[in-house]
Amino acid sequence: MTIKNVTVAGSGVLGSQIAFQTAFKGFSVTVYDINEDAINKAKERIKGLRHMYKHDIAATDEEFEAGLSRITYTWDLEDAVKNADLVIEAIPERLDIKKPFYDKIGKLAPKEAIFTSNSSTLVPSALMEDTGRPAQFLNMHLANQVWLNNTAEIMGSPKTDPAIYKEIVQFARDIGMIPIELKKEQPGYILNSLLIPLLSAGEGLWVKGVADPEMIDKTWMAATGAPMGPFAILDVVGIRTAYNITEAQAKAGDSNAQVLADKLKELLDQGKLGMESGEGFYHYPNPAYKDENFLKI
Ligand code: NAD
Repeated sequence: MTIKNVTVAGSGVLGSQIAFQTAFKGFSVTVYDINEDAINKAKERIKGLRHMYKHDIAATDEEFEAGLSRITYTWDLEDAVKNADLVIEAIPERLDIKKPFYDKIGKLAPKEAIFTSNSSTLVPSALMEDTGRPAQFLNMHLANQVWLNNTAEIMGSPKTDPAIYKEIVQFARDIGMIPIELKKEQPGYILNSLLIPLLSAGEGLWVKGVADPEMIDKTWMAATGAPMGPFAILDVVGIRTAYNITEAQAKAGDSNAQVLADKLKELLDQGKLGMESGEGFYHYPNPAYKDENFLKI
């Protein structure tokens, strides 16, 4: 099947970006969300991407407008999926929302339509039976700021049709993503399976007092050639997110996590949220780790 009409369901942070990127690359896109209010927010969010596309990837106003012109909006689910070749789902990360959603679109979408989930934490096996078409269901996980961080982690279930998997790999390329092909299900995909242990290890060294964040980052950068260390990455992720995860681990009884959560809370109380607030482990817009002397002896 040739994918032409793409429906993006859920138009929040990721859905709005995926919808625009897909339209920008020439596909006809229908954006679906639950009500008029959510759709109005989506329109604003999508229009708000103009600056980023111009600044980050030198898109022209004409190209941006052409992208916008290929998008239609609806809060009527039947209307949203009736002509879909592909439905990309980016609705909240909750099984009690995703399961009924797939049950509904499984009945409403054309029988040959493919469904992909952008879920960060659920493997496709968790949802495939709800779709009523497990062979045509898989995950395609795009990262925040899709126009810049252009990886698409593609993960099927044991029931995904290999031909459909290949089609989605090609689709990912067609929308400007680097397809990252996973051969089996893996919670956290490849990226977070690598990144989360690195960030946790960095935090652990800091909490134990082995070294301070700059020294830990310096070690990682000098020894591996990486452009950023774990604490610079944490500033991008945001200290609030790091705190929320750690606090949840502490509540589950992990006493080491409590020490880290307290340290992160101190930063939050001082308004140090990471890059978004201008300060976290580093000061922005010119963090020390970008200084040419950072790695000098
Ligand atoms: P979000 O909360 O910003 O947006 C969710 C959208 O879904 C909202 O517009 C909401 O109105 C809509 N929605 C709620 N119920 C719905 C329903 N039944 N049908 C259709 N739309 C519905 O969420 P997000 O951060 O964009 O995350 C969406 C998905 O993308 C999640 O699965 C998440 O794991 C994944 N993801 C998020 C990020 C990120 O950085 N935010 C990165 C990668 C993947």
